[in-house]
Amino acid sequence: MPETALPQYDPERCTGCGVCLAVCPGGVLALEEGRATFSAPENCLYCGECELACPAGAVQLYYVIVQGDRMSA
Ligand code: SF4
Ligand code: SF4
Repeated sequence: MPETALPQYDPERCTGCGVCLAVCPGGVLALEEGRATFSAPENCLYCGECELACPAGAVQLYYVIVQGDRMSA
């Protein structure tokens, strides 16, 4: 995951309901022309609350798959 990664928003799916703004603990999001947008991306905690809350499935976070070394345990 790049250090600058942010949740991905699909503007085609976004209905502009504002739920993600309400749940975001960082005050990162705003509505612009009826769509969610990042007004303060530097404050994103990458917590995933916006993804969980979005009723339209318009938000996706990157997740890192970590491959453990089972033989070294
Ligand atoms: S919760 Fe989903 S549909 Fe609602 S404004 Fe946010 S991204 Fe758009
Ligand atoms: S991941 Fe968390 S902090 Fe970042 S925009 Fe979504 S709700 Fe806000």
